[in-house]
Amino acid sequence: MIPRVTATVDLAALRHNLGVVRRLAPRSRVMAAVKADAYGHGAVPVARTLEAAGVDALAVACLEEAMQLRQARVQAPIALLEGVISSEEAAQAVYERLQIVVHDHWQIALLEQLPASARLSVWFKLDSGMHRLGFPLTEVPRLVETLRRHPGWSFQGWMTHLACADEPDNPFTDEQIARFEAALAGIPGPRSIANSAGLIAWPRARTDWVRPGLALYGCSPMPGSTGAELGLKPAMRLESRIIAVREYASGEGIGYGLTYRCPERMRIGVVAIGYADGMHRAFRNGTPVLIRGRRAYLAGRVSMDMITVDLREVPDACVGDPVLLWGDALPAEEIAQWAGTLSYELFCGLTQRVHFRHLDAAGAR
Ligand SMILES: *Cc1c(COP(=O)(O)O)cnc(C)c1O
Repeated sequence: MIPRVTATVDLAALRHNLGVVRRLAPRSRVMAAVKADAYGHGAVPVARTLEAAGVDALAVACLEEAMQLRQARVQAPIALLEGVISSEEAAQAVYERLQIVVHDHWQIALLEQLPASARLSVWFKLDSGMHRLGFPLTEVPRLVETLRRHPGWSFQGWMTHLACADEPDNPFTDEQIARFEAALAGIPGPRSIANSAGLIAWPRARTDWVRPGLALYGCSPMPGSTGAELGLKPAMRLESRIIAVREYASGEGIGYGLTYRCPERMRIGVVAIGYADGMHRAFRNGTPVLIRGRRAYLAGRVSMDMITVDLREVPDACVGDPVLLWGDALPAEEIAQWAGTLSYELFCGLTQRVHFRHLDAAGAR
């Protein structure tokens, strides 16, 4: 059986991208974000690959994601970026040797309910200006006091998150870094500031730990640039096939609402991928796909299981031809713009119906 839609993940590309990150931040340890099923790339194979490549830690959003990795016998340190929401979760996190990112006093209260012998591993998350998660910077002395009261806690460090790191001209990033450093002046403990954009565009954010996600998957977080321009290799290739080719007269409308009108007599290809696979319905007429190495263009609305494409640039296209939706030759960063979104959301939006293949230099596995 030939799968309708295949996402091929190149594990060697992940290793390559980890190398790029290491060269950019040679003095930093690397905590790889593998939350959201490794940005839709498959958490277990991705985590195993990065672990084997010597990544220093992994990061997930929540306990459930961490459990999936531990059950797959991933041994690397794993941080819970949103921390825990109950003392049961906290106990489970301790049992699984997870690092808990603590962002609020109510979480400290949960942790204090655990037996004093519990081997807790914690980060403190500070809000340096993004105003999402984190303690206000003025709380630092209180947090230092909390650590003093709990000498048994294994303190991993101080974390903050950047709001505008993908805007190279926005002075707010320097402002956030300066505030974070000032609040921690003279206070011991590792510092962690940078996500992919921070790491790429803001050398001062390359502190003790960096926390790349998107860059490891080979994409650029900076608007208007692609991963390849940064030396990264896209790890995912998404492909489907042409299942019908028809010719229509000038003026005929295509698909739901007939939102595309043929400007001349032309061939339209039907490709077996739709929003139920993760091809966002927001993709506009003109979104490129690649067939036989040439670009064809979305013509008509994305439906649940299919899209229709203008085949004028690919006159030899026929039923059965593979169609690339994104990958090496068609950067997801560029495609995402056609749906008014980011490569992050394209990757996370792939559904159960997509068939995944994980390849290594040694072949499929
Ligand atoms: C997801 C996440 C990251 C990684 O972000 P990228 O933009 O994918 O590099 C880093 N830090 C935190 C706190 C995150 O939630």
